[in-house]
Amino acid sequence: MYHYIIVGFGIGGFSFSQLLEENRRNFIVFDNNSQQSTRIAGGMYNPIILKRFTPAWKAAEMLPYALLQFQKFEHKFQKKYVFPINIYRKLASVEEQNNWAVASDKPVMRDFMLPVSFEKIEGIESPYGFGILKKTGIVNVSQLLDDAKKELKRKKLLIEEGFQYKNLNIYPDYVEYQGIKARCIIFAEGYGLKKNPYFNSLPLMGTKGEMLLIKTEAQIPYIVKSNVFLAPDVNKKGQYYVGATYNWEDKSNIPTQEAKEHLENKLQRLFNKDYKVVLQKAGIRPTVKDRRPLVGTHPDFKNLAVLNGLGTRGVILAPNIAKDLYNYLEFDQKLPPEIDIKRFGI
Ligand SMILES: Cc1cc2nc3c(=O)[nH]c(=O)nc-3n(C[C@H](O)[C@H](O)[C@H](O)COP(=O)(O)OP(=O)(O)OC[C@H]3O[C@@H](n4cnc5c(N)ncnc54)[C@H](O)[C@@H]3O)c2cc1C
Repeated sequence: MYHYIIVGFGIGGFSFSQLLEENRRNFIVFDNNSQQSTRIAGGMYNPIILKRFTPAWKAAEMLPYALLQFQKFEHKFQKKYVFPINIYRKLASVEEQNNWAVASDKPVMRDFMLPVSFEKIEGIESPYGFGILKKTGIVNVSQLLDDAKKELKRKKLLIEEGFQYKNLNIYPDYVEYQGIKARCIIFAEGYGLKKNPYFNSLPLMGTKGEMLLIKTEAQIPYIVKSNVFLAPDVNKKGQYYVGATYNWEDKSNIPTQEAKEHLENKLQRLFNKDYKVVLQKAGIRPTVKDRRPLVGTHPDFKNLAVLNGLGTRGVILAPNIAKDLYNYLEFDQKLPPEIDIKRFGI
């Protein structure tokens, strides 16, 4: 008998599996690549909301633990996944310059915000300068998932199939699925949760996001944020991600011409050098009505748990809410009420 079955191996399922390994709990994973959110994510970590210059919910306090977890994986695989890179927020007016100066004096914000800079960045004009954020960067999440999956495959702990909910048998102390028994099952399917009959009443909305990968001769060593972001591809020099779109209607993972044009229009207002689009990617962010994660167990079946609702900030949230869920399941420690699915009355 396994301790756990994990359904879904995006950043949510990965983070939970990492805790299980650390604590010597055995597990098996199902994943069918039906959702792409982690695969296509920019992988940026940044605890500050760059539109309003305010802290994102609990992000600053969660960041150190998230980075520590990714760094443990770096140590294990002797490979770099975490790339600290400052973010340069293009300031659009004198008013924004002032707002930046005011915000950077506030608690939490002062740990991340540096004074306005007029540094030159190739291909980018910014008469009002840039507000610089430090202690930010990129986690190479797609590489991390590839390597983690390879390792699971080697150990025969990854089943690359869609999980068929109707074949799950639930008993008081364990679950059974196609002959596999486990004490508990964790559902971490991202937007795929919509097909899960045990948890699909939760208010998961799903927000489609599209990104472009471009190639250019210009050298941009930072993440630049204006009305799009331009971020170095940590896998290949000379390539940059441009993103992202937000679409609440379309729930497919298919890239669209409309999003490409939208992103290119914005890019051309930010960046005045030649470039070539080499790839376009799309995925559904698992966003929630109240913008908080979805964590907890089923009201009727204590051995069915959910780990979802990572929204737009999976990199910082996933390791932290995986830890909350683990402590809840293993040590009966209370879940923070903001992430507990009980807030929706289920
Ligand atoms: C364009 C874009 C850019 C983003 N940029 C950032 C960023 O810079 N920083 C950041 O922190 N976040 C970013 N995000 C958000 C981030 O990607 C998500 O918060 C996070 O990836 C969600 O992870 P997840 O594991 O919950 O879901 P997913 O990554 O969607 O993983 C779910 C997994 O479950 C599998 N699955 C689903 N159903 C089944 C089933 N029935 N059987 C088996 N397997 C199943 C899927 O195939 C998938 O592998 C971005 C998202 C998008 C779309």
